[in-house]
Amino acid sequence: MVKKTVKKTAAKTAAKKTVKKAAVKKAVLKKTAKYIYSFGAGRAEGNGKMKELLGGKGANLAEMAGQLKLPVPPGFTITTEVCTYYWNNKRTYPKTLKADVEANLKKIERETKKVFGSAKNPLLVSVRSGARASMPGMMETILNIGLTEETIPGMIAKTGDERFVYDAYRRLIMMYSDVVMEKAAGIEPKDGEGIRKILDGMLGDLKTKLGVTDDTHIPADELKKLCVEFKKTVKQVLKKDFPDDPMEQLWGAIGAVFASWNGKRAIAYRNIENIPHDWGTAVNVQTMVFGNMGDTSATGVAFTRNPGNGDSHFYGEYLINAQGEDVVAGIRTPSPMNKWSANAHSAHLPTLEKVMPKVYKELDAIQKKLEKHFHDMLDIEFTIEDQKLWMLQCRVGKRNGTAAVQMALDMVKERLISKEEAVLRVTPAQLGELLLPAIDPKAEAGVKPIAQGLPAGPGGACGEIVFNSADAIKLQEAGKKAILVREETNPEDIEGMRAAAGILTQRGGMTSHAALVARGWGKCCIVGCGELEINLEAKTVKMGGKTFKEGDALTLNGTKGYVYDGALKMLTAGEGNKNLMHFLALCDKVRVLKVRANADTEEDAINARKFGAEGIGLFRIEHMFYGKNSEKPLFILRKMILSGNEAERKAAVEELFPYMKKEIKATMKAMAGYGVTVRLMDPPLHEFVPTLPSKQAELAEALGITLDVFKERAAGLHEVNPMMGHRGIRLGVTYPEITTMQSRAIFEAAAELIQEGVKAEPEVMIPLTCDVNEIITQKKLIRAAYDEVVAKTKVKKLHFSVGTMIEIPRAAVLAYEVAQEADFFSFGTNDLTQMTFGFSRDDIGAFLPEYLKQGILEADPFQTLDQRGVGMLIEHAVTEGRDAKPNLKVGICGEHGGDPASVEFCHREGFTYVSCSAFRVPIARLAAAQAAAKDVLAYKRK
Ligand code: PEP
Ligand code: MG
Repeated sequence: MVKKTVKKTAAKTAAKKTVKKAAVKKAVLKKTAKYIYSFGAGRAEGNGKMKELLGGKGANLAEMAGQLKLPVPPGFTITTEVCTYYWNNKRTYPKTLKADVEANLKKIERETKKVFGSAKNPLLVSVRSGARASMPGMMETILNIGLTEETIPGMIAKTGDERFVYDAYRRLIMMYSDVVMEKAAGIEPKDGEGIRKILDGMLGDLKTKLGVTDDTHIPADELKKLCVEFKKTVKQVLKKDFPDDPMEQLWGAIGAVFASWNGKRAIAYRNIENIPHDWGTAVNVQTMVFGNMGDTSATGVAFTRNPGNGDSHFYGEYLINAQGEDVVAGIRTPSPMNKWSANAHSAHLPTLEKVMPKVYKELDAIQKKLEKHFHDMLDIEFTIEDQKLWMLQCRVGKRNGTAAVQMALDMVKERLISKEEAVLRVTPAQLGELLLPAIDPKAEAGVKPIAQGLPAGPGGACGEIVFNSADAIKLQEAGKKAILVREETNPEDIEGMRAAAGILTQRGGMTSHAALVARGWGKCCIVGCGELEINLEAKTVKMGGKTFKEGDALTLNGTKGYVYDGALKMLTAGEGNKNLMHFLALCDKVRVLKVRANADTEEDAINARKFGAEGIGLFRIEHMFYGKNSEKPLFILRKMILSGNEAERKAAVEELFPYMKKEIKATMKAMAGYGVTVRLMDPPLHEFVPTLPSKQAELAEALGITLDVFKERAAGLHEVNPMMGHRGIRLGVTYPEITTMQSRAIFEAAAELIQEGVKAEPEVMIPLTCDVNEIITQKKLIRAAYDEVVAKTKVKKLHFSVGTMIEIPRAAVLAYEVAQEADFFSFGTNDLTQMTFGFSRDDIGAFLPEYLKQGILEADPFQTLDQRGVGMLIEHAVTEGRDAKPNLKVGICGEHGGDPASVEFCHREGFTYVSCSAFRVPIARLAAAQAAAKDVLAYKRK
């Protein structure tokens, strides 16, 4: 009877694909000995599609220069392949690279009419990293390369500005000694003792001595002296001279950028963001343009729309007389680009629109052009050198969930993107943010904030104060919530920021690294809260006239930037959010898969409907014996389980009937008009035996037996692995009256609802099937109960179906047979994973973490479906099942039904629906839409 099909297995196909890909890659590597791609005024060798080779920054620089003809300072990109080579060949370069770099430098020299290392007319360059995926602040940048004792006089003569040149030189010494001479050399100073910190301290001391607060107010001769002191200190601390040869500086910087790919924080960031470690970074060498050449120069970071709330206005910050690092480092408070960019800290500062109207207009036109070209919100970096605008970078901008949803909806309205593209613009994690906790407005209304900073990451967070990353991680591991309080966050804090529930910093602007990273993760974050007085040693922070210690409670409102004393009441977010509803409605238009919920009570069903569930995919009858109002039915269930003979059991079953019917009816009513799959009881019996002596005595009395007899019966029920024991359909086989009673409860509930004018069409689901014959026996009982109810109630049009869960590998293997007796399959992937792996789902804690750590398994198979193994069984079962019965309904009701990657798998396998817990329904709706959108877009591309 089983149809034997020799199918190509998914794993084999996958393996073949990988081999093929690797072979192609190798061939490409051999063929393309081109390691450098240049770009400049109106021309580029690369383009925006070449992200793998040129990194995101390099590819977009090429696109801006070559395709869009925007003002990009000339430069070149050393490919990611060189990074891979560098790490695979003991930190060396391909043989031809030196000559290639020199030839490309010559190209820049011709275009800029300057010469690298020239005493009279020196060219300075920047060296920046740029991986395929943006890793903000995780790798290195070095500016002003080429400044030496010999070129400094030339620069002064050319610019007529000695102060500017020494300012640039002191920056070079600071960056270079930190990045190249310390980090890339593998020197790991203690916290706060790194060369950068020491030089920063010297700069701070000088400002104090001179009585100035702003770097730009340090006079030229003082900067000049500072540079001499800097170089002495570098030599003292790092035991090496600061290099005075431009080529040595350039190669040092290139090597340091490649080295930074495997720096600690870059590795940590990639682990969190799931970025492959073998991608490598490209290196961009580019002509320096200067935002720090006086008051007609500036530098800034901007977004084509507001990344914090999705507002469709140009948004950004700039600093007059500064270099790019000043904006992101949060050293000075940046000014707003325009009125839409002003916040509590910057509203009084002049906008770029006012200060340099012509340049602003040009920049505004460019940002519009960029959005039109890339069809997305972009994050751009620019520099204005003496009123001339230069574009230094553009990339798709990071945004939080609120902004992502707003932008996706707006861009569809503006016809910038299709609805399929729109649903792909919001990640499941971003959608999750909108469903995350916020402070209860009622609680918030009654209290005053004790401090205010900039609202960098929305939502609310409440937790205990910690002052460093390690403590944030410890608290998280202890299952508690941490509020990480820092002077400023630097990328070294990355793991602590991830672990904390909220982040609060004293310094930093909306585009500081803390803000960018937190936004990317949808983390509640407040930056630039200037009034904090932090004492790291004493682990205290003063604000609002009060001193807080480590462990004290704080609440943050990251949407407004408010800090509150103590723990305020939090709310589940998502309620009443219109944008969220509109976006989910858009998802519904795109998706093919239906989304149901796993719900076992009327309350769950109502909630599930609110979240948009289209029915119940799993109603676990036995859940009525847990939680609210379960005392009485649980007692009767226990009586049933521990009864000594059939008559006793039947009596208990009868007693249980009204409770069961009531629960089923109320839930079906809440889901009126939608399918409800009621699964017959699947309780591991042994788990329900009472252990408390008082409960045992009470039950013994109700059963009319002595405590000794009770204990004897209970011992008889004991199982070593109850998950594999007397449960599921086996219960119906051994005690048919239990199936009969449940079926009657289901049909009577449905009949009564129909008579009350409520639509009800129950789907009876048989759990833990391993053989079609089990279904045949149960179906007879179910049918008999149905006939009895119809005869008794005289109800017409009571339709029902009988299906089975596929939880045991044998049922999946023999799906062709099983489908002949089932109207639907619902994959119980919790048990199917348990039984395919042979891992007890309750006991994985002892070994699974080690499996993940050692890389034996890529992910916890109970959280995300093991597509290669368990997935192969599912694929086989769906194919065989539909061969036997083409209209077989197929769903999933294991926990994987709410995991985005697993939902995508279900879409590919042609499932009818996924079913997951109510609060994950919105995520499943999005994941289902994204899976369908990918199909549509792939088809359109073809
Ligand atoms: C499953 O096994 O995936 C399932 C949904 O059933 P339960 O979790 O109740 O065993
Ligand atoms: Mg199960």
